[in-house]
Parts: sequence; C-alpha cells; structure tokens
Amino acid sequence: MDNGKGWRRRMNQEFGDQFPHGAFHFAVGNGWSLLIAEVFRRVDAALDDEERTFFAWNDVKEKWGLLRMTHNGSDRIDDIVDWAEAASERICDHCGLSGRLRKSGLWRVRCHACAGI
Ligand SMILES: [Zn+2]
Repeated sequence: MDNGKGWRRRMNQEFGDQFPHGAFHFAVGNGWSLLIAEVFRRVDAALDDEERTFFAWNDVKEKWGLLRMTHNGSDRIDDIVDWAEAASERICDHCGLSGRLRKSGLWRVRCHACAGI
C-alpha cells in the first residue's frame, strides 16, 4: 500500500468522468481504497449513455466511522452505494483487513492490530 496519494491519483485518472468538476481527495482512510475503487468500477458499468453525461459524485467521505458517498445519479447508483456503505462497516479503514466499528474516541472501523492507531 502506498502513502495514499497514488491510489487517489489513479482513481481520478481511471474514473475521471465520474468527477467532472475536478479531482477528488476522497476523505477516507487508505484501507478503503479497494472498496471505493470497486464502487467506481460498478458505477462505470451501471451508467447508461444518458446518465453518464451528467453523473457526478458530490462527496466521498467517512462519517461516524462509516463510508458516505453522495451523488446525483439514479436508484441503480444508490444500490451500489448502499452495498459499499454497508461493506465499510467490516473493513479496517487503515489497512483494509477485516474490522469492526469501534466507538471509543473517534468512531472508526478498525481491525484488532490497527485499533490503537
Ligand atoms: Zn487494520
């Protein structure tokens, strides 16, 4: 895993048409990089020609320890987002291994090894 700049750059390049207003930072831990990459892949496959002309992400962030993704797309995109937000509850946002939501201090999904980080 890199320092977090590499995957962000790759996401913005590979799925640039989902970020028509400019590059995104993605305010999430590096452990979720594969999860949100899968979201962008599924969205890319779900967009039809018409929706692709206007689709944009509004926000991709962590809130109360879980992934939150907002967009201007259709119910089909909502289904993908619902899946990803639920999946984020079981993926360590630091390293990407299996984790659980820990509610001590800042709420974070962490594996056992990353719990104190
Ligand atoms: Zn971890």
